[in-house]
Parts: sequence; C-alpha cells; structure tokens
Amino acid sequence: MGQVKVRLSKSIVGEQEKQAVWNVISRGYLGMGQETQAFEKELSQYLHAGEEGWRVACVNTGTAAVHLGLQGVGVGPGDEVLAPSLTFVATFQAIAATGATPIACDVRLSDGLIDLEDAERRVTARTRAIVPVHYASEPGNLSEVYRFAKKHGLRVVEDAAHAFGCTHEGKLIGQQGDVVCFSFDGIKNITSGEGGLVVSRDASVMERVCDARLLAVQKDTEKRFSGTRSWEFDVVDQGWRYHMSDIMAAIGRVQLVRFENEFKAKRMELGNYYRENLQGLRGIELLARGEGTRVPHIMPIRVLDNKRDLVRAALGEYGFETGIHYKPNHLLTKFKSGPLAKAEQLYSELLTLPLHPEVSKADIDSIVDKIKQSI
Ligand SMILES: *Cc1c(COP(=O)(O)O)cnc(C)c1O
Repeated sequence: MGQVKVRLSKSIVGEQEKQAVWNVISRGYLGMGQETQAFEKELSQYLHAGEEGWRVACVNTGTAAVHLGLQGVGVGPGDEVLAPSLTFVATFQAIAATGATPIACDVRLSDGLIDLEDAERRVTARTRAIVPVHYASEPGNLSEVYRFAKKHGLRVVEDAAHAFGCTHEGKLIGQQGDVVCFSFDGIKNITSGEGGLVVSRDASVMERVCDARLLAVQKDTEKRFSGTRSWEFDVVDQGWRYHMSDIMAAIGRVQLVRFENEFKAKRMELGNYYRENLQGLRGIELLARGEGTRVPHIMPIRVLDNKRDLVRAALGEYGFETGIHYKPNHLLTKFKSGPLAKAEQLYSELLTLPLHPEVSKADIDSIVDKIKQSI
C-alpha cells in the first residue's frame, strides 16, 4: 500500500472540543458529574424532545452500552441472544459478557442486515433477546425485527452504533423501540473520545443500567449528579466501572452541536455522491437503502467476481485507505459456528471506502476512477 492520502475514517475534533475539555479540567472534577448530566439532558432533548418516560444513560463505550442494555433486560448465563454475524466483534463480546451465548445469524445479501428467516430457525427455549445491528446506518428491517421479537417473546436491544441521527419510519433511531445503544467512539457519527449511550423508556431497565454502570451501587447516579454521594450503600447485583467521565461528556456536547451543523449534512452528501457515481457500474453492487434519513458512518460496497482484493490493492497504491467491515463473528475462534453462506459471501465481496467529514468530492471522483480502472 502506498502512503495514505485519504484515511478510511477519522476523528474530527478541534479547538472547540479542546476548550470544552480544558473547562472541565479547570473545574478540577473529572469524574461523572455536571458535564455528563448536561450531555444526557441534551441527548434526551435531541432524541425525545421532552417526550415523557424516556431515559438515557451515558457510559464509557458502545460495547458497555450493549452489555448493560442486555443486563438491564435480564439477559444472563444460560440465555441465548440472536445477532447478525456481520457486525463488529463488540456486539458479540457484549453478549458474551452477560454470560449468555451469542447465536450468530445469517444476513441479507442486499443490505447486510439480520436475516429473520435464518434467525427463526435458531430460536430455542433459551432465546431471550435479539440484537439487530443497523449495519452501515441502515435500520431497514427494524419493524420486522420487532414483530419477530413479539412473536417469540424476546427483548430487543438495538446495536445502533452506526445509526446516530438516522430515522426509521419517520422517527429517529433511539426515539422508539425497546432498548437502543449507541457508540461515541472516535470515528462514529459523533464522538466523546470514547463513549456510549443506552436509551429506553422501560424505567426498570434504566434503573438497572444506571446502577450497573457504577459498580451496582444503588442509585449512585442520582447522588453523584446532586453532589451527595454517600458512603453508606448497598450492592445486590453485578456492576461495572462503565460510567462516562466529564472529560468525555465535554467533547460529546460539542460534537452533538457540530453533528447538526456540520457532520450530518456532510456525511449524507458524501454518501449520496458515492452512490450516484457508483450506481450501475458493472461489477459493483451498492447496498440497498430504505427511505428516511441515512447518516452514513461507513461506506461499504460489494465488489463482485472475486475482484475485491484487486480493487483494494489498486486503491491502496494511490493512498486511498479501505477496510473490510466485518469478518463475520461465526468465523472467529471464540464464536465459531455456521456455516452462514450469505455472511461469508459478503465477507469476500465487501470493501469499505473512505468516509468522514474531511473527505472531498474530488477524493471520491479519484476513488471512483480507480475502481473503474481496476474492475
Ligand atoms: C463501534 C461499534 C460498537 C462498539 O462501540 P465502542 O464504542 O467502540 O465500544 C458496537 N457495535 C458496532 C456495530 C460498532 O460499529
């Protein structure tokens, strides 16, 4: 690979975030306090605009968000949880962290989302939950997932790590549903350095999540936010050190504003530009998009006829960094199962092209040219 000229993904942070972090440092309290509380209020406002009953809880990673979301709905040892194999290993590790067994399901060739017909064959008496992943920011079959869950008596914990700012049937992801989990890691649609968010309107789930993120010290979140942390407390459940720090929240608060003002439109524009220019190209297949707002976190395409590695090498020669999202989890030693024909086919075809707010249309023109020349 030549020298990297255009990166696959990138954290876009600058002066404003620096100032916000410095303000927290100057206050001299770096833990989970007023800055995290303010970030939660703003996220709540963003997602639910004051609608009653919803609660949000910031945590330190998206992986922790999925883990706590599952723990919150009562998933534990002996349970099985359905998930698409084509996802970041974080999804599977989060399920495994509860003591439950992740059950890898095949995905749809058209968009990489969980194939519910395949999932149906894997339902057993132990199945407790399903974790749909909004792969490449596409919530596509989410309504079907909820119908499927209802039919089988399952909880739904959405891995919405790719889908911050996206909509499904007219509502934001996280504005509806059972439990929804976001990631704010460095390269996601918004970042807080590292971070995650759990959203639900189930009060008992959110109480468990809020306790479990602080070592399961009961009601510790409320006490910390009101500055009355007590030294007499009880613990009855397994908890973790998964809370967000005020330093992270400070970055996240700036990013949430920048998302609306800059990142969202830019990502959508670049995603659409890629699609316009690659549409109909022989040997290339775009992933299907549903209607609604799609703020692309990544830009995977399918390269047919066994040419993916060729195209990837050619782009690399010219300094365009690419990726492969993802190696299916059922091919990993820890989660070995399958075979899953469609996930494996996609794994051989998928190529993720550079996408972040600092990619230019001229970059995309060059990338598309190189693809045309090499297929
Ligand atoms: C990024 C990501 C996660 C985990 O988020 P972290 O904040 O990195 O822990 C989970 N699932 C998917 C699909 C992701 O892309």
